[in-house]
Amino acid sequence: MLNKSNQTAKKIARKIRNREITAVNIAEQTLARIRELNPELNAVINISEDLALRQAEAVDKDIKSGKTLPPFAGVPILIKDNINIKGIPCTCGSKILKGYIPLYDAGVIGRIKNSRLIIVGTTNMDEFAMGSSNETSAYKPVKNPYSPKRVPGGSSGGSAAAVASGMVPFALGSDTGGSVRQPAAFCGVVGMRPTYGLVSRYGLVAFSSSMDQIGPITENVEDNAALLGIIAGFDEKDSTSINKEVPDYIDYLQKPLKGKKVGLPREYFGDGLNPEIRESIENSIEALKDRGVEFEEISLPNSMKCIADYYVIANAEASSNLARYDGIKYGLSIRSGDLRNSYIKTRTEGFGTEVKRRIMLGTYVLSAGYYDAYYRRAQKVRTIIRNEFIRAFADYDLIITPTTPTVAFKFGEKLDNPLQMYLSDIYTASVTLAGLPAIAIPCGFNSEGLPMSIQMIAPPLMEKLLYNFAYILETKLDGNGG
Ligand code: GLN
Repeated sequence: MLNKSNQTAKKIARKIRNREITAVNIAEQTLARIRELNPELNAVINISEDLALRQAEAVDKDIKSGKTLPPFAGVPILIKDNINIKGIPCTCGSKILKGYIPLYDAGVIGRIKNSRLIIVGTTNMDEFAMGSSNETSAYKPVKNPYSPKRVPGGSSGGSAAAVASGMVPFALGSDTGGSVRQPAAFCGVVGMRPTYGLVSRYGLVAFSSSMDQIGPITENVEDNAALLGIIAGFDEKDSTSINKEVPDYIDYLQKPLKGKKVGLPREYFGDGLNPEIRESIENSIEALKDRGVEFEEISLPNSMKCIADYYVIANAEASSNLARYDGIKYGLSIRSGDLRNSYIKTRTEGFGTEVKRRIMLGTYVLSAGYYDAYYRRAQKVRTIIRNEFIRAFADYDLIITPTTPTVAFKFGEKLDNPLQMYLSDIYTASVTLAGLPAIAIPCGFNSEGLPMSIQMIAPPLMEKLLYNFAYILETKLDGNGG
């Protein structure tokens, strides 16, 4: 099930450009590979064969006529099922959106089309991106390519598993509390959560609007930097979009790290951390010390409150965002007597257990009397968590932590215990609350052969530094960094 093809986006793009292979050929091979692997993995919800072949034919035609195309023209990509693509079903892994076909392209899809990437389908996910294991998908869970008994992580589990199994070199996920980084960690691939506002959220189905971000998932760091370069940038259709020029991340990959200072927050290396993961992070730290990076222990005392804080804010926003699924405008519609009954029937039938739980909790924390006790207080804690990070960045270039406390767990292990499930994001949700960028990169395998992952966190808009560190560490760990 693993990616043995070694087909990075960079290599595929070069072959197409040099006319060693056509874009149609690559698209056909990709579709065949998805069809071969998907019955077992269930990573892809919908294959967009017509769109893919049409786009690939257009790329080939332009290449034949001698046009200069964008550097990654012809490279296949899978898109998480909560990002709108005109004419392609979008369900957010939910029954309630069954049959919904978007009428417009999300901001990132516009950029992907302009870069002439080939959209081959949409990936499975936890329902409305609420989950850490893909078990809340209404379309059955994705399996981890490293072990069919284990979850791929969530909520972008389909995207991570698709890249890990070599279906595609490029995939998009979305990360609210960890949904790009945690599945990337569980599937042994690279996942980036960009600074809030760097990538347009226009056309990303909203879960928690103050935290949602789209991020790239790839097999290696260089491809990841390239894909972020494609999707990042100002979009006037997203009021939270940052209007600033996007650097060429590839230029920063090999910059020397000598003299850079990294903080290791002791709270992230506490009791709940699996010892093998701890050891793998220590090895990565040694590898970076060889490159002249300096490390110091620091403290982010309020970070470990992030799960409680995140679930108040995320659920409050979700309860409001999901009010629009009433069976009138989108997807599933069960008409039954009067309007109120139709709403009730549609929502009862259409939403799964986890989504209902969150709508109820979110409505509760926003209700009169509880708003001050929970929601307002959670916002204050959010500011405290953010300020601790910002203060740390006055003295340190980067912060390094594990991405997850454990490796991929087994199906069913946490499903009946939401709190345990929520704790899988203990190292990632704090970063989200602070609005910071962070990258998850593989840092070895445990004794059972399961991937482990290191998280690097940077100040706002310092993705270039994350890629710099991540690239150098990846090269060292691959054994060719000297
Ligand atoms: N696992 C977290 C949750 O369930 C994060 C999800 C996400 O980032 N979309 O909310």
